[in-house]
Amino acid sequence: MQRLQAFKFELKPNGDQARDLRRFAGSCRFVYNRALALQQERYATGEKKLGYFGLSKLLTEWRNSTETAWLADVPVHPLRQSLKDLDQAYANFFAKRADAPRFKKKGQSDSFRYSDSEKIKLDQANSRIFLPKLGWLRYRNSREVLGVVKNVTVSQSGGKWFVSIQTEREVERPIPQGGAVGIDMGIVRFATLSDGTVYAPLNSFKRHETRLRKAQQALSRKVKFSNNWKKAKARVQRIHSRIRNARRDFLHKTSTAISKNHAMVCIEDLQVGNMTKSAAGTIAQPGRNVRGKAGLNKSILDQGWFEFRRQLDYKLAWRGGWLIAVPPQNTSRTCPCCGHVSADNRQTQDRFECVECGFEENADVVGAINVLRAGHARLACEVSPAGGQQQEPTEATQSGSMSD
Ligand SMILES: [Zn+2]
Repeated sequence: MQRLQAFKFELKPNGDQARDLRRFAGSCRFVYNRALALQQERYATGEKKLGYFGLSKLLTEWRNSTETAWLADVPVHPLRQSLKDLDQAYANFFAKRADAPRFKKKGQSDSFRYSDSEKIKLDQANSRIFLPKLGWLRYRNSREVLGVVKNVTVSQSGGKWFVSIQTEREVERPIPQGGAVGIDMGIVRFATLSDGTVYAPLNSFKRHETRLRKAQQALSRKVKFSNNWKKAKARVQRIHSRIRNARRDFLHKTSTAISKNHAMVCIEDLQVGNMTKSAAGTIAQPGRNVRGKAGLNKSILDQGWFEFRRQLDYKLAWRGGWLIAVPPQNTSRTCPCCGHVSADNRQTQDRFECVECGFEENADVVGAINVLRAGHARLACEVSPAGGQQQEPTEATQSGSMSD
């Protein structure tokens, strides 16, 4: 099977290169915004939206015009890529997958992508990569890049530049290792497995949260666009980026540990609405520390759950295993021993005690056991009756194509 994988490294540009990186990112943003403004104008006057090729033609005009001649000094592939991105943003919008495309602001996801792989040279032995109009750039080489380079994305985060190298390679379909497990996702415990393993939440958020709040307060007291304001703003951005990194690290460690040891992982099919509810709790089972979760912490956790699931999905696929999502009905209220369903089974947040048979267990473990059972049930339904051959659930057919 084909495996797409992204390898991300920090770039170590020299002074000229750092200036060019900023300039290229700014030019891509300029082209994106100009094309978006044009599309909006056309829409307002009842004209048809331009397709990628129409926009691409305009880009050539812009690069040749004296007014925007500086665009000619920027590599053309990243500029075209930002037009493709705009086209994709519109496609997502029309398919109701996303909001209407918005103008890009400076400092907000500054990035650009080289899709002309034949012009890119990767020299791993010397920890450097060649990119058109930037030349050889050094990078912090932390691991070997495997496969054929397909494209390269350069991005800025927290004042640093990164390169993400997407590659493709043929790998053997691995034989999944380990058994099946169910996961209960929560706030107090990030993940509880049906075998009793517990992954604690990432507590460093708390520390970061206090620092972030203070930094944000400091920022609000500064005169906008003054030097002190800029310094304070950079500080806020730094803390945000530290939070992101800590979270990414935590999610990767957890999803790797679980996918390594299991062939089949069952997880509750959480929707955004469910997650908001699970933080606030229900009337019967109010969530703890609801106010504390309402702000940053909760939003981080919410995103974390989606990201965690995405990682589990592709990491399991890499190892030949699969992820099964089950509807989250009654998983916290069903007795795994006798099957009795009642809200009374769960008197407190962390204790489960069946009112029918007296079975006692930690409530999260019970949730995980029920998720595992629901997963088995779903799998049983997908066994074709004639051949008796087990079909792979849909999740497993997606090959892992995401960054690591
Ligand atoms: Zn029972």
